[in-house]
Amino acid sequence: METCERMEVLLSGFVDGELEPDEREQVQRHLEQCHPCALRTISLFQLRNETAHVQFRDPPLEEWDEHAKGLFEETTRTFGWFFYVVAALFFLILIGCWTWRSFWQNEWGWLYAIETVALLAGTACLLAAVLRRRILAQKTERYRDIIR
Ligand SMILES: [Zn+2]
Repeated sequence: METCERMEVLLSGFVDGELEPDEREQVQRHLEQCHPCALRTISLFQLRNETAHVQFRDPPLEEWDEHAKGLFEETTRTFGWFFYVVAALFFLILIGCWTWRSFWQNEWGWLYAIETVALLAGTACLLAAVLRRRILAQKTERYRDIIR
């Protein structure tokens, strides 16, 4: 007699009519002798019949439009932030180089140096604050695994 564990693997294929003839025969022989597996097979047939008649509604056209708008906004926002961050980093590097030259060549160079250090420190503080908030929000977001 085949084991119930082996039948567990074959039963859904049996219900869907996807088994080879020899496997189908094994399952039928087992079901004639095993009451729990026979009951399980009956419930699988019932489940298959019930789900076969389930119909999904097509979303209305307005929903597709909203979805497309959402995708467009998300994509443009992502690219916008990417270009902004790259440009800001290059800008800060340029200012740093310019300040470094001015510091040694210009009598007011120390003013540029203070300004650049303040700008870099301010940017770093703001970036750290935003990153910290994003990380905290991600950890405590209750609905992050829900797909809409
Ligand atoms: Zn069994």
